[in-house]
Amino acid sequence: MKSWIEISAQRLTANYRLLVEAAADTSVLAVVKADAYGHGAQLCAPVLAQAGAAWLGVTDAAEGAAVRAALTAQGVSPEQQPRVLVMSEAHDEDARLTLEHRLTPVVSSVLQMQSLAHAARERGIQLVDVHLEIDTGMARQGVAPGDDLEEVLQWLIQQSVVRLDGVMTHFASAEVTGSHQTAQQRRLFEQAILQVVSAGLRPKWIHAGNSSTIDNQNDEAGTGESPLCWLRKLAHMAEANPMVRSGLSLYGYSLPLECEQNYAGRSEPLVHPCLQPIMTWKARVTHVREVEPGMKIGYNGTLTAARSMRLALLPIGYADGLRRELSGTDVRAGGWVLFGSQAAAIVGRVSMNLTIVDVTALPSVAVGDEAVVLGKGITAEDHARLAATIPYEILCGIKAPRLLL
Ligand SMILES: *Cc1c(COP(=O)(O)O)cnc(C)c1O
Repeated sequence: MKSWIEISAQRLTANYRLLVEAAADTSVLAVVKADAYGHGAQLCAPVLAQAGAAWLGVTDAAEGAAVRAALTAQGVSPEQQPRVLVMSEAHDEDARLTLEHRLTPVVSSVLQMQSLAHAARERGIQLVDVHLEIDTGMARQGVAPGDDLEEVLQWLIQQSVVRLDGVMTHFASAEVTGSHQTAQQRRLFEQAILQVVSAGLRPKWIHAGNSSTIDNQNDEAGTGESPLCWLRKLAHMAEANPMVRSGLSLYGYSLPLECEQNYAGRSEPLVHPCLQPIMTWKARVTHVREVEPGMKIGYNGTLTAARSMRLALLPIGYADGLRRELSGTDVRAGGWVLFGSQAAAIVGRVSMNLTIVDVTALPSVAVGDEAVVLGKGITAEDHARLAATIPYEILCGIKAPRLLL
């Protein structure tokens, strides 16, 4: 194999357990959408189920079906399988997969629920659980509290096929402590939950937030409550179970907590220092060459050898998710890879399927040797910094065969 990704089941389990412990009385939904953030949902979902996850989160019904198939293939019986939440709003054609694979869809409109109810009746299914998303200020998905929510609630109580199993919202700035936006979103969510309860509905689950919500133990918005403490109280009031949805932290990362301007609270992250990246991306050297001083290296000759150099060629590039911003040029140092514990700088432009690294100081590097491209000391945060993006985008972009260790 020219390049591959090793996924550590042990680290994934350890990260999950750490999150469960930190979330205390709040359940943790393990997000495996976008192919488990590039780590392979087929590999990660069974490990998480084994670790005790009661809920998994996917983007669409097709991902949900693939997760069910992976769980079944790993011998997890239907009764023992976690519930699977489909977090992006469904299209009509998703109803079939949703029902067939016992997925729990996120909904926000009567139209959507009508189409589900119709598909259920056609199949003789008596009851479909849904989670209702409330838009508390992201202008993305969900129904607004107030009249729009009331219409949805009135429809729900007048029929018997669709059951409101959960109510959820999503925060725009969970990693910002003392965020005014989060405070506003909380107030709207509280209002929505009151509306749900007043309508006589009793959802089992109330969920909000992401990895940063677990990480942030600050007294938010001067209320004396951490985000999870707030969530627990709200769920308790509605006689429901609180749940938080974590993705990035499962894979060993989380965003640094930021402080809103003029916010005097603390901001030490709770779990981040203890998380371990579960992915190690490796590639094998396919060629080694010596170049003379003055030789231009790679596309557009953006780097000129100032001395004799020894260059190793790796058979990966931006098509595999190695970002082009990691290129090392005469004006800018770029990314690096590791041979054992020793770093080799990326030199010249990262090409589509090839990358050159400087092994002048590593005379033992030979064709067939393994280079660590990411993991074991090189983090997705390192790549993200160079590429001016977030670790999420780096991880999702990596394409290589995956092995579960
Ligand atoms: C992706 C996602 C999450 C997980 O976010 P992380 O920052 O990766 O923990 C939680 N909730 C929703 C609705 C999401 O789409």
